Amino acid sequence: MPKIVVKFGGSNLRSKEEIHRIIQVVRNYNQPLIVVVSAFYGVTNYLIEALEQARHDESVAARSTQYLFDLKIGILKHFITDQKLLDETVAAVQQQLADLGKYLQGIALTGDASKGLEDHVLSYGERLSAIFLTGILKSQGFEARSSFPEAIGLYTDGEFGNASADFHLSTNQVRESLSEDLIYVVPGFYGVSKEQKTTLFGRGGSDYAAAALARCIGATSLDIWKDVNGFLSSDPKLVSNPVLIEQLSYNEAAELAYFGAKILHPRTVEPLTDPRIPIRVFNIYGTLAVTAPLTVISREKSVQSGVVKSVTYSDDFGLLKLKGPGVGLKPGILAKVTTALHHAGINISSVLTSQISINILLAKKDLQNAFAVVSAIELSAVGKLQIEDDISIVAAVGHGITDNYGIAARIFTALASDGINVLMSCSGASPIVSYYLVQSSDRSGAVKAIHREFFEK
Ligand code: ASP
Ligand code: MG
Repeated sequence: MPKIVVKFGGSNLRSKEEIHRIIQVVRNYNQPLIVVVSAFYGVTNYLIEALEQARHDESVAARSTQYLFDLKIGILKHFITDQKLLDETVAAVQQQLADLGKYLQGIALTGDASKGLEDHVLSYGERLSAIFLTGILKSQGFEARSSFPEAIGLYTDGEFGNASADFHLSTNQVRESLSEDLIYVVPGFYGVSKEQKTTLFGRGGSDYAAAALARCIGATSLDIWKDVNGFLSSDPKLVSNPVLIEQLSYNEAAELAYFGAKILHPRTVEPLTDPRIPIRVFNIYGTLAVTAPLTVISREKSVQSGVVKSVTYSDDFGLLKLKGPGVGLKPGILAKVTTALHHAGINISSVLTSQISINILLAKKDLQNAFAVVSAIELSAVGKLQIEDDISIVAAVGHGITDNYGIAARIFTALASDGINVLMSCSGASPIVSYYLVQSSDRSGAVKAIHREFFEK
């Protein structure tokens, strides 16, 4: 019975070299596993485009299924020398592509796709990856089996595009379905509703899917393989000597991911926190030793000297500003605005208010829509509605940030000495993060200044 869930991302499936490395990793584990895979690098974005084009172009179905077939076939032939296994694997790939083609054709015929159909179409990247990797692992002598979420009972709350796992429904069935001593290969990114409809866990959601499975089986760890060196004190593209963070708490990892660290989906820790299942982060370009993770994320909360563990940033947020001389004291504005945004399916990341301005922090992609939604509400106290999209967030994360005096002072001083103006700041929203809004053109400078202050002195 597998006790470890291992997740490989799309960037681990790019080339023959990387697939050789995956095979070596699976060999090094030397035990039954649940392997969760993402779509090939870029395939989810490709499917999103195909879905859009299919609404008005009938030829997309044939073109895109051919493209996806060509993307896989070379590598499959390279690894699978046994003709029977190759035929079997290719047939399974073709079956998936035939189904995908039918759905795209249906969209072309009706010119429309429901949310459920959209989720279903976008899940094909992961489905194909699972079949692909199963064939390759079999060709190397492993006993491997593709196990799809609908077959193993990974159930969700049914929300399309942004589902959460339903552990009451899933746990026993998943545990029973994945109990043999072999390598199960499960497509990430989605689970199914009670009605067996595909529901996505949101972009980047394969990490979350892997975490959900780890919880269901009571795994000893969730091992995430990346193509970078674990969690670092900042982005190596911006700072020259980032420090490796060997240990993070669940909350620190969640905040880092929320504020832009690309290494993990922010929701990955959710299913793992209660059962205390650690996440171990590895680099596929490292030693491939499965006992030596770069970063371990667990319930252990440590305050390190200097307090700040990492400086991260995101360019994906923007502000919706509601201005008026008395908006701060007028009751009911936020109630109306947040209700309208909720009905439009727009998530609010933060709200910072004063007497003359209410600032709502949103994902940049939602700004225009939010502007339209809020413009349509009757708000007599609001004189001006404004969007600010030329901003970035820089965040310092670490246990102890709000319990220790002087941290914010050091951050402000470091920024000021580099001539960087802070537009807004927020400390104390959670006890482990302090974040700063700056002009986008100041973002890299701000990250460098804060990193220098805490790590390069
Ligand atoms: N392929 C999906 C995405 O790009 C899920 C994932 O990679 O985690 O969002
Ligand atoms: Mg990912």
